[in-house]
Amino acid sequence: MIATKRRIVIQIMLAVVVGVVGVFVMKRGQCRVDDSNGLHERRWLSMGTVARYVGRGSSRHDAANAEIVKAAFDEVEWDLSVFNPESAISKLNEEGYIRLQVCNDPCEFDFLKVVSFAIEVARTTEGAFDPTVNPLMRIWGFRKDTVVVEAPSGEMIDKALAAVGFGKVVISTNENGMAEVRLGNGVELDLGGIAKGYAVDLAYERLKRSGVRDFIIDLGGNIRVDGNPSKDRIFWRIAVRDPADPTKNTGEMIELESGEAVATSGSYERFVEIGGKHYSHIIDPRTGWPVERGGSVTAIAKSAMEADAFSTAGFVAGLESGIIKGKLMDSSRWLSRRAKWENLETRR
Ligand code: AMP
Ligand code: MG
Repeated sequence: MIATKRRIVIQIMLAVVVGVVGVFVMKRGQCRVDDSNGLHERRWLSMGTVARYVGRGSSRHDAANAEIVKAAFDEVEWDLSVFNPESAISKLNEEGYIRLQVCNDPCEFDFLKVVSFAIEVARTTEGAFDPTVNPLMRIWGFRKDTVVVEAPSGEMIDKALAAVGFGKVVISTNENGMAEVRLGNGVELDLGGIAKGYAVDLAYERLKRSGVRDFIIDLGGNIRVDGNPSKDRIFWRIAVRDPADPTKNTGEMIELESGEAVATSGSYERFVEIGGKHYSHIIDPRTGWPVERGGSVTAIAKSAMEADAFSTAGFVAGLESGIIKGKLMDSSRWLSRRAKWENLETRR
Protein backbone atom coordinates (compact mmCIF):
# COMPACT_ATOMS: atom_id res chain seq x y z
CA MET A 1 0.00 0.00 0.00
CA ILE A 2 1.28 3.42 -0.87
CA ALA A 3 1.77 5.66 2.15
CA THR A 4 -0.74 8.52 2.13
CA LYS A 5 1.90 11.24 1.94
CA ARG A 6 3.63 9.55 -0.97
CA ARG A 7 0.31 8.99 -2.73
CA ILE A 8 -0.53 12.67 -2.43
CA VAL A 9 2.80 13.61 -3.97
CA ILE A 10 2.17 11.18 -6.84
CA GLN A 11 -1.32 12.55 -7.33
CA ILE A 12 -0.03 16.10 -7.41
CA MET A 13 2.61 15.15 -9.96
CA LEU A 14 0.03 13.39 -12.11
CA ALA A 15 -2.36 16.32 -11.95
CA VAL A 16 0.46 18.70 -12.68
CA VAL A 17 1.70 16.87 -15.78
CA VAL A 18 -1.72 16.05 -17.18
CA GLY A 19 -2.58 19.66 -16.56
CA VAL A 20 0.19 20.74 -18.90
CA VAL A 21 -2.02 19.66 -21.75
CA GLY A 22 -5.34 20.16 -20.03
CA VAL A 23 -5.53 23.82 -19.11
CA PHE A 24 -5.15 26.25 -21.97
CA VAL A 25 -7.89 28.67 -21.08
CA MET A 26 -5.81 31.06 -19.01
CA LYS A 27 -4.67 34.33 -20.40
CA ARG A 28 -0.96 35.14 -20.35
CA GLY A 29 0.24 35.95 -16.84
CA GLN A 30 -2.63 34.33 -14.97
CA CYS A 31 -1.63 31.81 -12.36
CA ARG A 32 -3.23 28.92 -10.58
CA VAL A 33 -2.06 28.02 -7.09
CA ASP A 34 -2.26 24.43 -5.87
CA ASP A 35 -1.69 24.53 -2.12
CA SER A 36 -1.91 20.82 -1.27
CA ASN A 37 0.97 19.15 0.56
CA GLY A 38 2.82 22.42 0.88
CA LEU A 39 3.49 22.57 -2.87
CA HIS A 40 2.27 25.69 -4.62
CA GLU A 41 1.80 25.59 -8.34
CA ARG A 42 1.68 28.63 -10.59
CA ARG A 43 0.93 28.45 -14.27
CA TRP A 44 0.94 30.88 -17.12
CA LEU A 45 1.43 30.83 -20.86
CA SER A 46 4.90 31.38 -22.28
CA MET A 47 6.67 30.60 -25.56
CA GLY A 48 3.44 29.23 -27.01
CA THR A 49 2.97 26.65 -24.28
CA VAL A 50 2.11 26.25 -20.59
CA ALA A 51 4.76 27.27 -18.07
CA ARG A 52 4.75 26.18 -14.43
CA TYR A 53 6.59 26.91 -11.26
CA VAL A 54 6.02 24.54 -8.35
CA GLY A 55 7.59 25.50 -5.03
CA ARG A 56 7.21 25.07 -1.30
CA GLY A 57 7.87 28.57 -0.04
CA SER A 58 5.30 30.92 1.40
CA SER A 59 2.78 32.13 -1.12
CA ARG A 60 4.56 35.49 -1.30
CA HIS A 61 7.94 33.86 -1.90
CA ASP A 62 6.57 31.51 -4.53
CA ALA A 63 4.93 34.40 -6.34
CA ALA A 64 8.27 36.22 -6.42
CA ASN A 65 10.08 33.07 -7.58
CA ALA A 66 7.54 32.53 -10.35
CA GLU A 67 8.22 36.11 -11.46
CA ILE A 68 11.96 35.30 -11.74
CA VAL A 69 11.11 32.28 -13.89
CA LYS A 70 8.71 34.30 -16.05
CA ALA A 71 11.28 37.04 -16.63
CA ALA A 72 13.87 34.45 -17.75
CA PHE A 73 11.38 32.83 -20.14
CA ASP A 74 10.41 36.21 -21.60
CA GLU A 75 14.06 37.14 -22.19
CA VAL A 76 14.80 33.89 -23.96
CA GLU A 77 11.67 34.19 -26.08
CA TRP A 78 12.62 37.74 -27.02
CA ASP A 79 16.12 36.82 -28.15
CA LEU A 80 15.75 33.30 -29.53
CA SER A 81 12.44 33.39 -31.35
CA VAL A 82 12.49 33.43 -35.15
CA PHE A 83 9.00 34.96 -34.93
CA ASN A 84 10.38 38.14 -33.37
CA PRO A 85 12.08 40.21 -36.10
CA GLU A 86 14.06 42.05 -33.38
CA SER A 87 15.52 38.90 -31.80
CA ALA A 88 19.23 38.14 -31.87
CA ILE A 89 18.47 35.02 -33.91
CA SER A 90 16.45 36.98 -36.51
CA LYS A 91 19.26 39.52 -36.83
CA LEU A 92 21.81 36.74 -37.26
CA ASN A 93 19.63 35.09 -39.91
CA GLU A 94 19.17 38.35 -41.76
CA GLU A 95 22.74 39.60 -41.66
CA GLY A 96 24.53 36.25 -41.79
CA TYR A 97 26.76 37.03 -38.83
CA ILE A 98 26.70 38.35 -35.27
CA ARG A 99 29.50 39.59 -33.02
CA LEU A 100 29.25 39.08 -29.29
CA GLN A 101 31.18 39.55 -26.13
CA VAL A 102 32.11 36.14 -24.68
CA CYS A 103 30.26 35.87 -21.42
CA ASN A 104 31.79 34.76 -18.13
CA ASP A 105 29.71 32.81 -15.62
CA PRO A 106 27.33 33.72 -14.12
CA CYS A 107 26.00 35.01 -17.38
CA GLU A 108 22.79 36.96 -17.74
CA PHE A 109 21.93 35.64 -21.16
CA ASP A 110 24.31 33.55 -23.20
CA PHE A 111 23.37 33.48 -26.88
CA LEU A 112 26.76 32.07 -27.80
CA LYS A 113 26.38 29.17 -25.37
CA VAL A 114 23.04 28.16 -26.92
CA VAL A 115 24.30 28.33 -30.52
CA SER A 116 27.55 26.53 -29.63
CA PHE A 117 25.71 23.80 -27.77
CA ALA A 118 23.25 23.36 -30.67
CA ILE A 119 26.18 22.85 -33.06
CA GLU A 120 27.86 20.45 -30.63
CA VAL A 121 24.69 18.34 -30.38
CA ALA A 122 24.37 18.42 -34.18
CA ARG A 123 27.87 16.99 -34.44
CA THR A 124 27.25 14.40 -31.74
CA THR A 125 24.00 13.28 -33.33
CA GLU A 126 25.46 13.27 -36.85
CA GLY A 127 22.94 15.85 -37.94
CA ALA A 128 19.74 14.28 -36.54
CA PHE A 129 19.54 17.47 -34.48
CA ASP A 130 20.44 20.40 -36.71
CA PRO A 131 19.72 24.05 -35.82
CA THR A 132 19.95 25.05 -39.50
CA VAL A 133 16.50 23.57 -40.30
CA ASN A 134 14.85 26.99 -40.64
CA PRO A 135 14.54 26.92 -44.49
CA LEU A 136 12.84 23.52 -44.19
CA MET A 137 10.48 24.80 -41.46
CA ARG A 138 9.45 27.57 -43.85
CA ILE A 139 8.66 25.38 -46.88
CA TRP A 140 6.63 23.05 -44.67
CA GLY A 141 4.47 25.96 -43.45
CA PHE A 142 5.78 26.48 -39.92
CA ARG A 143 6.50 30.17 -40.50
CA LYS A 144 3.91 32.93 -40.43
CA ASP A 145 5.19 34.36 -43.73
CA THR A 146 4.37 31.20 -45.71
CA VAL A 147 0.99 29.58 -46.31
CA VAL A 148 1.45 26.06 -47.61
CA VAL A 149 -1.42 24.38 -49.46
CA GLU A 150 0.41 21.37 -50.84
CA ALA A 151 3.45 19.39 -49.78
CA PRO A 152 6.62 20.97 -51.18
CA SER A 153 8.03 19.48 -54.39
CA GLY A 154 11.29 17.55 -54.47
CA GLU A 155 12.87 20.57 -56.11
CA MET A 156 11.79 22.89 -53.28
CA ILE A 157 13.05 20.44 -50.68
CA ASP A 158 16.42 20.11 -52.45
CA LYS A 159 16.76 23.89 -52.66
CA ALA A 160 16.03 24.28 -48.94
CA LEU A 161 18.36 21.37 -48.11
CA ALA A 162 21.20 23.14 -49.93
CA ALA A 163 21.12 25.76 -47.14
CA VAL A 164 20.88 23.17 -44.33
CA GLY A 165 23.85 21.68 -42.50
CA PHE A 166 25.49 22.53 -39.18
CA GLY A 167 28.90 22.54 -40.94
CA LYS A 168 27.83 25.80 -42.59
CA VAL A 169 27.94 27.60 -39.24
CA VAL A 170 31.32 28.93 -38.14
CA ILE A 171 31.89 30.08 -34.56
CA SER A 172 35.14 31.85 -33.77
CA THR A 173 36.50 33.63 -30.72
CA ASN A 174 39.48 35.94 -30.40
CA GLU A 175 41.81 36.88 -27.57
CA ASN A 176 39.91 40.11 -26.87
CA GLY A 177 36.98 38.10 -25.56
CA MET A 178 34.90 38.66 -28.68
CA ALA A 179 33.10 35.90 -30.59
CA GLU A 180 31.54 35.76 -34.01
CA VAL A 181 28.91 33.43 -35.42
CA ARG A 182 28.93 33.38 -39.21
CA LEU A 183 26.39 31.59 -41.42
CA GLY A 184 27.01 30.24 -44.93
CA ASN A 185 24.99 31.39 -47.92
CA GLY A 186 21.22 31.19 -47.30
CA VAL A 187 21.74 29.46 -43.93
CA GLU A 188 19.26 30.36 -41.16
CA LEU A 189 19.14 29.07 -37.62
CA ASP A 190 16.08 27.84 -35.74
CA LEU A 191 16.76 27.18 -32.06
CA GLY A 192 13.22 25.93 -31.36
CA GLY A 193 14.54 22.48 -30.46
CA ILE A 194 16.67 23.81 -27.63
CA ALA A 195 15.40 27.27 -26.59
CA LYS A 196 12.82 26.10 -24.06
CA GLY A 197 15.40 23.92 -22.35
CA TYR A 198 17.80 26.85 -22.20
CA ALA A 199 15.05 29.06 -20.76
CA VAL A 200 14.44 26.49 -18.00
CA ASP A 201 18.17 26.35 -17.19
CA LEU A 202 18.44 30.14 -17.09
CA ALA A 203 15.49 30.36 -14.69
CA TYR A 204 16.90 27.47 -12.64
CA GLU A 205 20.30 29.16 -12.27
CA ARG A 206 18.72 32.46 -11.27
CA LEU A 207 16.58 30.79 -8.60
CA LYS A 208 19.58 28.92 -7.26
CA ARG A 209 21.60 32.13 -7.07
CA SER A 210 18.73 33.67 -5.10
CA GLY A 211 18.95 30.80 -2.60
CA VAL A 212 15.66 29.11 -3.60
CA ARG A 213 15.34 25.36 -2.94
CA ASP A 214 12.88 22.52 -3.60
CA PHE A 215 11.13 23.51 -6.79
CA ILE A 216 10.11 22.40 -10.28
CA ILE A 217 10.35 24.55 -13.38
CA ASP A 218 8.38 23.36 -16.39
CA LEU A 219 8.09 24.90 -19.82
CA GLY A 220 5.91 22.74 -22.04
CA GLY A 221 7.34 19.49 -20.69
CA ASN A 222 10.93 20.75 -20.43
CA ILE A 223 11.28 20.16 -16.72
CA ARG A 224 14.08 20.70 -14.20
CA VAL A 225 13.82 19.93 -10.51
CA ASP A 226 15.67 21.05 -7.42
CA GLY A 227 15.93 19.64 -3.90
CA ASN A 228 13.34 17.24 -2.52
CA PRO A 229 9.56 17.02 -3.05
CA SER A 230 9.07 16.23 0.67
CA LYS A 231 11.04 15.37 3.83
CA ASP A 232 10.97 11.64 3.13
CA ARG A 233 11.51 11.65 -0.64
CA ILE A 234 14.56 12.51 -2.69
CA PHE A 235 13.10 11.90 -6.15
CA TRP A 236 10.61 14.08 -7.93
CA ARG A 237 8.20 11.88 -9.88
CA ILE A 238 7.26 13.12 -13.33
CA ALA A 239 4.60 11.58 -15.52
CA VAL A 240 4.96 11.48 -19.30
CA ARG A 241 2.13 12.29 -21.65
CA ASP A 242 0.78 9.42 -23.69
CA PRO A 243 1.69 10.34 -27.29
CA ALA A 244 -1.31 8.34 -28.51
CA ASP A 245 -3.65 10.43 -26.32
CA PRO A 246 -1.85 13.55 -25.05
CA THR A 247 -4.71 14.36 -22.65
CA LYS A 248 -3.54 11.35 -20.61
CA ASN A 249 -0.21 10.15 -19.33
CA THR A 250 1.39 6.75 -19.71
CA GLY A 251 0.99 5.86 -16.02
CA GLU A 252 4.70 5.30 -15.44
CA MET A 253 6.80 7.78 -13.51
CA ILE A 254 10.22 9.16 -14.28
CA GLU A 255 12.18 9.85 -11.12
CA LEU A 256 14.44 12.89 -11.12
CA GLU A 257 17.10 13.74 -8.60
CA SER A 258 17.87 17.30 -7.61
CA GLY A 259 19.31 19.23 -10.56
CA GLU A 260 18.17 16.76 -13.21
CA ALA A 261 16.01 17.60 -16.19
CA VAL A 262 13.67 15.77 -18.52
CA ALA A 263 12.22 16.62 -21.93
CA THR A 264 9.94 14.82 -24.35
CA SER A 265 9.66 15.31 -28.09
CA GLY A 266 6.90 13.95 -30.25
CA SER A 267 4.97 14.58 -33.42
CA TYR A 268 1.73 15.12 -31.46
CA GLU A 269 3.01 18.39 -29.98
CA ARG A 270 2.79 20.61 -33.06
CA PHE A 271 1.99 19.95 -36.69
CA VAL A 272 0.66 21.53 -39.86
CA GLU A 273 -2.18 20.11 -41.90
CA ILE A 274 -1.55 20.01 -45.64
CA GLY A 275 -4.15 18.39 -47.90
CA GLY A 276 -5.82 16.72 -44.90
CA LYS A 277 -2.57 15.15 -43.68
CA HIS A 278 -0.71 16.08 -40.49
CA TYR A 279 3.00 16.84 -40.77
CA SER A 280 5.12 16.98 -37.62
CA HIS A 281 7.10 20.09 -36.62
CA ILE A 282 10.18 17.94 -36.22
CA ILE A 283 12.03 17.67 -39.51
CA ASP A 284 14.59 15.11 -40.53
CA PRO A 285 17.42 17.34 -41.80
CA ARG A 286 18.83 14.46 -43.80
CA THR A 287 15.72 14.05 -46.00
CA GLY A 288 14.02 17.44 -45.64
CA TRP A 289 10.76 15.71 -44.65
CA PRO A 290 8.88 15.97 -41.35
CA VAL A 291 9.41 12.87 -39.21
CA GLU A 292 6.40 10.66 -39.88
CA ARG A 293 6.50 8.22 -37.00
CA GLY A 294 4.23 8.60 -33.97
CA GLY A 295 5.26 8.18 -30.34
CA SER A 296 7.69 10.31 -28.43
CA VAL A 297 11.21 10.28 -27.06
CA THR A 298 12.00 11.27 -23.49
CA ALA A 299 15.50 12.28 -22.47
CA ILE A 300 16.80 12.73 -18.93
CA ALA A 301 19.92 14.84 -18.51
CA LYS A 302 21.91 17.05 -16.20
CA SER A 303 20.50 20.20 -17.79
CA ALA A 304 17.21 21.08 -19.45
CA MET A 305 18.99 22.30 -22.58
CA GLU A 306 20.66 18.91 -23.03
CA ALA A 307 17.42 17.02 -22.41
CA ASP A 308 15.62 19.30 -24.89
CA ALA A 309 18.18 18.88 -27.67
CA PHE A 310 18.58 15.15 -27.20
CA SER A 311 14.87 14.37 -27.04
CA THR A 312 14.43 16.16 -30.37
CA ALA A 313 17.46 14.33 -31.78
CA GLY A 314 16.19 11.02 -30.43
CA PHE A 315 12.85 11.55 -32.09
CA VAL A 316 14.49 12.28 -35.45
CA ALA A 317 16.91 9.39 -35.15
CA GLY A 318 14.04 7.00 -34.47
CA LEU A 319 14.84 5.42 -31.15
CA GLU A 320 12.35 2.66 -30.62
CA SER A 321 9.68 1.76 -28.11
CA GLY A 322 9.57 1.48 -24.36
CA ILE A 323 12.02 2.58 -21.72
CA ILE A 324 15.37 1.25 -22.94
CA LYS A 325 17.58 2.77 -20.32
CA GLY A 326 21.14 1.55 -20.70
CA LYS A 327 20.58 -0.12 -24.06
CA LEU A 328 21.01 3.08 -25.98
CA MET A 329 24.72 2.99 -25.47
CA ASP A 330 24.88 -0.27 -27.44
CA SER A 331 22.12 0.32 -29.90
CA SER A 332 22.91 3.81 -31.04
CA ARG A 333 26.18 4.92 -32.50
CA TRP A 334 25.51 8.59 -32.14
CA LEU A 335 24.83 8.27 -28.45
CA SER A 336 27.64 5.88 -27.75
CA ARG A 337 30.09 8.73 -28.22
CA ARG A 338 28.83 10.54 -25.15
CA ALA A 339 29.52 8.67 -22.00
CA LYS A 340 27.35 11.06 -20.02
CA TRP A 341 24.28 9.84 -21.89
CA GLU A 342 23.97 6.75 -19.68
CA ASN A 343 20.94 8.39 -18.24
CA LEU A 344 18.85 8.69 -21.35
CA GLU A 345 15.52 6.95 -21.53
CA THR A 346 13.11 6.68 -24.41
CA ARG A 347 9.45 5.95 -24.46
CA ARG A 348 6.97 5.46 -27.22
P1 AMP B 1 11.13 20.01 -29.68
O1 AMP B 1 9.71 20.38 -29.48
O2 AMP B 1 12.05 20.40 -28.58
O3 AMP B 1 11.34 18.58 -30.10
O4 AMP B 1 11.68 20.90 -30.89
C1 AMP B 1 10.98 21.01 -32.10
C2 AMP B 1 11.37 22.31 -32.73
O5 AMP B 1 12.76 22.26 -33.08
C3 AMP B 1 10.64 22.60 -34.03
O6 AMP B 1 9.45 23.34 -33.79
C4 AMP B 1 11.68 23.39 -34.80
O7 AMP B 1 11.67 24.73 -34.36
C5 AMP B 1 12.99 22.76 -34.37
N1 AMP B 1 13.39 21.57 -35.16
C6 AMP B 1 12.66 20.83 -36.02
N2 AMP B 1 13.38 19.80 -36.50
C7 AMP B 1 14.60 19.90 -35.92
C8 AMP B 1 15.80 19.14 -36.02
N3 AMP B 1 15.88 18.06 -36.76
N4 AMP B 1 16.88 19.55 -35.30
C9 AMP B 1 16.83 20.65 -34.52
N5 AMP B 1 15.72 21.41 -34.38
C10 AMP B 1 14.63 21.04 -35.07
MG1 MG C 1 13.84 19.72 -28.02
